[in-house]
Amino acid sequence: MERRQFLNSVAGLSLGKMIRAGGRERIIIIGGGIVGASICYRLAQRGGAVTLLERQEPAAGATRGSFAWINASFTKQPRHYFNLNLQGILAFRALHQELGRALPVVWSGTVEWYSTSDRAAELRRMVGVQQEWGYPIRLLERGALERLEPRVRFQPGCSASLATIEGHVDAAGATRLLLEKARMFGAEIVYPCDVRKIEADRSGYLLRTSRGEMLAEKLVLACGTETSRMAEMAGIDIPLIPAPGIVVKTAPQPRTFSHLLVTEEAHLRRGLDGRVVIGDDFGPPATAVHRLLEGEQRTFPSRALARIHGERIRAQAARSLPEIGRARIEEVNLCWRPMPKDGFPVVGYADGQRRLYLAVMHSGVTLGPLIGSLATMEIVDGVTVDLLAPYRPLRFGVH
Ligand SMILES: Cc1cc2nc3c(=O)[nH]c(=O)nc-3n(C[C@H](O)[C@H](O)[C@H](O)COP(=O)(O)OP(=O)(O)OC[C@H]3O[C@@H](n4cnc5c(N)ncnc54)[C@H](O)[C@@H]3O)c2cc1C
Repeated sequence: MERRQFLNSVAGLSLGKMIRAGGRERIIIIGGGIVGASICYRLAQRGGAVTLLERQEPAAGATRGSFAWINASFTKQPRHYFNLNLQGILAFRALHQELGRALPVVWSGTVEWYSTSDRAAELRRMVGVQQEWGYPIRLLERGALERLEPRVRFQPGCSASLATIEGHVDAAGATRLLLEKARMFGAEIVYPCDVRKIEADRSGYLLRTSRGEMLAEKLVLACGTETSRMAEMAGIDIPLIPAPGIVVKTAPQPRTFSHLLVTEEAHLRRGLDGRVVIGDDFGPPATAVHRLLEGEQRTFPSRALARIHGERIRAQAARSLPEIGRARIEEVNLCWRPMPKDGFPVVGYADGQRRLYLAVMHSGVTLGPLIGSLATMEIVDGVTVDLLAPYRPLRFGVH
């Protein structure tokens, strides 16, 4: 489409938006999860003319269903990816200093332990490796473990570690806060606004949305599991293999443990509101019940199935922390992880003109604030951040 024709077709709303941008490049971010919100906050803080469009409401996607552990745990390999996650933790800690108590984050540290021999051996090996990489993690002897978490039942002979730098966050609360702050810096946050079509032009992108047409000179795709479909409209291939996860939230509980707990059967954390969040270990076990969940379903097919999963996960957690077996379950969320095919983040420009910027990843809670700052440097300052080199979108090729 020629530029004149393009502008004619977007008269009204989009031209109005360009005028309001006051000569600055109009940047539109699609997706109001923690990644989009982090980028929006930093861009707005730097004076960018930024609009964020969200299909439902802030944190409606993976961010809402996340276990939200902020970590560079030993699954974060190889070293470049470990480093990125460590920088992610540090960026989150800096954000906490910047925003203060309003950011619902808890720096609890993590106690992680395994009794199956292969995982116990991998934990011991990786604690040594991560210490060589300078990570504040150490092995714990049984006595120390029991003093730290006296009410937890650790299996005899398990191997355990303590990572003092880690924590967890109410990811939806953090997202809403970032968007509120972005708005104070002049960002427009528009929802519900479903972006249905993206059309490229030499000077930018025309978006056809449920709220009308809009024109962006730069476009940031931070749409989680929807990113492949949206990128495809712009001719970019970003293969994702969304992976399901189930997270249970209990009613507020007394403080029976103080660290974030990670073991074979369950992950547990206690939020600032006293609610205990319990995550399955990474993938669902291969049982008949889980096979029902195969295919990309957005929610449980029935409340009965949600209840079965909620009770299963609570029972798994209760084997380590008996009191949790009596906790009332408030929510059971089935949610899809935005997982790039090779497991690593996809961050950066996806086109030669540097107009289309992508940010999709698992561990987007750990990485969100860091990616917000680094993407802003790349978009506003025009630099190429070396730390992001392994994660460029074009590694998957272009249509
Ligand atoms: C069960 C589970 C456990 C997890 N545990 C952890 C963990 O412990 N630690 C960690 O760091 N990470 C964890 N993650 C991953 C982390 O939650 C995600 O990486 C992160 O939330 C992704 O954020 P996002 O902003 O990229 O995507 P999302 O939160 O999915 O946000 C994308 C947004 O885009 C919107 N959108 C999509 N299409 C459109 C459109 N066409 N128009 C407008 N808006 C659109 C959606 O409505 C959505 O709100 C977990 C994820 C899950 C599911």
